[in-house]
This record gives sequence, structure tokens and C-alpha cells, in this order.
Amino acid sequence: MQIGDLIRSARRPFYSLEFFPPSDAAQLPAFYQTAERLRALDPLYISVTYGAGGGKQYNTLSVTAELARRGFTTMAHLTCVGAEEEKIAAFLAELRAAGVYNVLALRGDPPRDTAWDWGKGAFQHAADLVRFVREREPRMGIGVAAYPAPHPESPSFAEDRRHTAVKLRAGADFAVTQLFFDTREYAALVESLQAEGLDVPIVPGILPIQSFDSLRRVLSLCGASIPAKFYLGLEEAHAKGGNAAVREEGLAFAVTQIRQLLALGAPGIHLYTLNKADLCLRIAQEAALQSVPEKG
Ligand SMILES: Cc1cc2nc3c(=O)[nH]c(=O)nc-3n(C[C@H](O)[C@H](O)[C@H](O)COP(=O)(O)OP(=O)(O)OC[C@H]3O[C@@H](n4cnc5c(N)ncnc54)[C@H](O)[C@@H]3O)c2cc1C
Repeated sequence: MQIGDLIRSARRPFYSLEFFPPSDAAQLPAFYQTAERLRALDPLYISVTYGAGGGKQYNTLSVTAELARRGFTTMAHLTCVGAEEEKIAAFLAELRAAGVYNVLALRGDPPRDTAWDWGKGAFQHAADLVRFVREREPRMGIGVAAYPAPHPESPSFAEDRRHTAVKLRAGADFAVTQLFFDTREYAALVESLQAEGLDVPIVPGILPIQSFDSLRRVLSLCGASIPAKFYLGLEEAHAKGGNAAVREEGLAFAVTQIRQLLALGAPGIHLYTLNKADLCLRIAQEAALQSVPEKG
């Protein structure tokens, strides 16, 4: 099933879940156990990240294939920076053969330790990959990344949103956002895309905060911004009650954010699980999406 169609036909707001593939095969049983526990959320789909630079692509393939075999609708992330067309085409064919019919088409980040030549290679931007997938695998569902606060390389909100509009028009069915903590940024992103005439589902990404250190690590990697008041509140909670208090503070914030996003008309919520189930289950219990009335 193509995820874009599933989103459009969903009668109620849904959850989708993001995992990263374990790098060590010994962690796989615990990984699949976590996915099975999260089946309780009835996820619309599960997405699996792709190692920076494509290094772990076969982990992404085997994990998405196994999740598909277990009956989940799955989406493999796929980055194109520095990639050759034929390798991407082969990967797409392997996904299809494994029952994975959706990709999140990403540019990715170049290796940090080299001066990257953006002129080389077949793909410069995620939009190039969207076009390529559309042409080579017309039946593959395509998602793209969107940024409520602009992508770190973007000079302005306006320019980032223009580029997001270009990749949506190139043939993407929907977008998943970078994690964010200011709901107004999501509202503004959706409004600006609608003003461009784009009525494409934009699924907001929410981070359950597992610990203060993991929050800092995630923020440093993805470049998302966090309101100072919330950050200071987390810092204070950490000083008083350690990571247990940080999780509670983050949980209450996430539940409020989810309710605000649904009130704005978000089609569902994408949870950055960090491969952990407990907090996602608690967020789902407290946000109680099942009590949201069905669409007309
Ligand atoms: C939901 C989500 C999932 C992710 N999953 C992964 C993953 O699994 N693996 C991974 O390695 N990374 C992942 N990332 C990170 C992503 O690879 C980085 O943010 C990367 O730097 C940008 O990828 P993109 O697809 O958004 O790129 P693009 O859409 O190409 O945008 C990158 C930058 O280029 C600009 N730009 C776009 N088009 C043009 C143009 N025509 N001219 C000039 N500038 C342009 C954009 O405004 C932006 O600043 C994910 C990000 C998100 C939000």
C-alpha cells in the first residue's frame, strides 16, 4: 500500500513510528520485540532510517523487509548524496521484491570530514531523487522531509519552503517533518505550502524525550531548535529529579503538542521512537487519539 493513499483514507488521526536499524545483529530480537509492543498503537506505517552516507543500507533493507513480513506497512528512508543511479535503482528493486512499497526520499548529509563537491554525482537535492524514483518505480509511494524551522543550510524560512514545495511537486505523496517543539512553526509551514496550492499531507514529527543527554545528541545532529523556556524547564527537572523527571516533563509537553497539532488539522503524528517503546506507549495513552471523532 502507498502511504499517501493510507493517509488520505484514514478516518482518524494515526501514529507512524520511526526506528533506526540496529547495527549489531545481536540486538535484533529486542528490536523486533519493541516493534511488536508498539503494535498496540496500530501504526499507519513504520519507517526505518538509512545510515548517513548509505553505509548501513542493507540493515535498512533487511529490517524494513522483516517488518513488512510481520504485516506492518513500511517505508525505507533512502539518501542520494554521492549515490550512483544504478545502485539506487537496484536498492529500490530489492525493496519492492521484499514487499516494501514506500521510500522517504532524502538528500542526506555529505561526509563531515571532506570538502564535498556538490557538482559531482547524479543527485544534488532530494527533489532529484523524487523524480528518479517516480520514473524508475512508478508504483512506489514517496515521502519527503519537511522542516518546520528551516533546514540548517537554508538562508531563510521562505527559501526552505520554496524548496520543499519543489520536491513535493516533483512527485512526493506526503512529507514527514523534522522534530520540532514550537507548534506555530508547523502551522506556518502548512500554511505556506497551501498558499503555493499544495494540499499534500504533512505529518508532524514528535520526539519522546528519553533523557537529557539523548535530547542534546538529537538536537546537535538534526539542528532543530527548542524554545528556551522548555529547555530551561528540562534542565531544572534534570537537576531536581534526573532523567525520570526529564521524561515526565517531556511527556507532558509532547501530549500538549500532539493535541495542538491535531486541533490544527495534522493528519497524524510521527513518533521518533529512538527504538524505545515505553514513552511512546505512555504518550499514546495520555494523548488518547482514539477519542478524536472520526472525519465527517
Ligand atoms: C523525517 C526525516 C527523516 C530523515 N531520515 C534520515 C535518514 O534516514 N538518514 C539520513 O542520513 N538523514 C536523514 N534525515 C536528515 C536529512 O538527510 C538531512 O536533513 C539532509 O541535510 C537534508 O535532506 P533533505 O532530503 O531534506 O534535502 P533537500 O530537500 O535536498 O534540502 C537540503 C537543503 O538544500 C536546500 N535545497 C533544496 N533544493 C534546492 C535547490 N534546488 N537549490 C538550492 N537549495 C536547495 C534545502 O532548502 C535545504 O537547505 C532525515 C530528516 C528528516 C526530516
